[in-house]
Amino acid sequence: MPTLKFAVLAGDGIGPEVMTEALRVLAHVARQENLRLEPTAAEVGGIAIDRHGRALPDSTLRTCEAADAILFGSVGGPKWEKLPPKEQPERAALLPLRQHFTLFANLRPGLLYRELADASPLKSERIPDGIDVLCIRELTGGIYFGRPKETTTLADGDLQAVDTMVYRRSEIERITGIAITAARSRRRKLCSVDKANVLETSVLWRKTVTAYVAQHAPDLELSHLYVDNAAMQLVRNPNQFDVLFTENMFGDILSDEMACVCGSLGMLASASLGAGKNSLGLPFGLYEPAGGTAPDIAGRGVANPCAQILSAALMLRYSFGLEKPAARIEAAVKQAVTGGARTADIAFGQKAVGTAAMADAVIAHLSAD
Ligand code: NAD
Repeated sequence: MPTLKFAVLAGDGIGPEVMTEALRVLAHVARQENLRLEPTAAEVGGIAIDRHGRALPDSTLRTCEAADAILFGSVGGPKWEKLPPKEQPERAALLPLRQHFTLFANLRPGLLYRELADASPLKSERIPDGIDVLCIRELTGGIYFGRPKETTTLADGDLQAVDTMVYRRSEIERITGIAITAARSRRRKLCSVDKANVLETSVLWRKTVTAYVAQHAPDLELSHLYVDNAAMQLVRNPNQFDVLFTENMFGDILSDEMACVCGSLGMLASASLGAGKNSLGLPFGLYEPAGGTAPDIAGRGVANPCAQILSAALMLRYSFGLEKPAARIEAAVKQAVTGGARTADIAFGQKAVGTAAMADAVIAHLSAD
């Protein structure tokens, strides 16, 4: 019986509420598919600051190191917003985790079911079949990490700040490889986004992507867009894209734009894949909802657990190589939502169900399939 060893970092706000439901769905699938789950819970974020004085305690990091994947909730909230930026939950927990495990590829499926088209700010006639785009963001390079990164006082007394955008060819090839693999399991279309008309890093990006795809995936359709145009095209006609991939800062912005176009954050999952392999020889990864801790609804049992449940499905697919149970969970979420089970964020005048009832509906569809 395959054993799934993963760290469970529920975090703050709605994190523990939606995590409970994702674990319940996983337990159900594990029983059906004959899998052994070995989740280990550890504290992260605000709760870890309160109890251990740090957002990412060493004990939590060790739990993650001993696992094959991390199922992450979300961290932060008003209680910790007065702390110095460096100590705040997101920055002091997520960034070190990304760096420690070299989580270089952030995959965000932008998925909007046709039945939820009203959740999108786009006119529904523009998205008659909903939205299905995968946005891949390079996560460990570029301007967020390049050196020098400093503010200096100039001789004339003026202040000057510098950030440095750096990319190596090997980093670009690595993320292109991920995009290729993803496109092969989808509609086989790649769109690489850069700013090659202005930036040196983008010139290298475009050259490298072109050569790498020609060598490793000549069967895939490859296009290139400047980032400003990509931002427009995403709202004009998101479904022209299948797999959209880009560097760190452009991806930060485009993936949030895509999340907005897709409607509720409560439905959007993400995977951050690492450079290292886990004990199964598959990518170590961190899997989390696209949204945050939603302090406005935390503690009320009304949060949408689907993003966390879909993140668990991504974990099965990428870190455990379990495509069938992953696809079954995704199908069950879709059937539950399109069949009428709706939390408040996606109810649009229909009767809303709570967090646990939403997961119950997913489990009912898993039982029925
Ligand atoms: P948020 O994503 O928490 O909330 C934005 C809006 O989306 C809110 O109205 C919220 O109710 C709604 N929402 C989000 N997830 C939902 C769900 N599952 N079901 C129903 N509605 C949902 O963003 P914010 O308000 O900007 O941030 C709140 C806190 O979360 C901050 O402390 C922020 O730093 C933190 N945050 C953490 C992460 C992370 O851990 N990766 C990401 C984003 C924000």
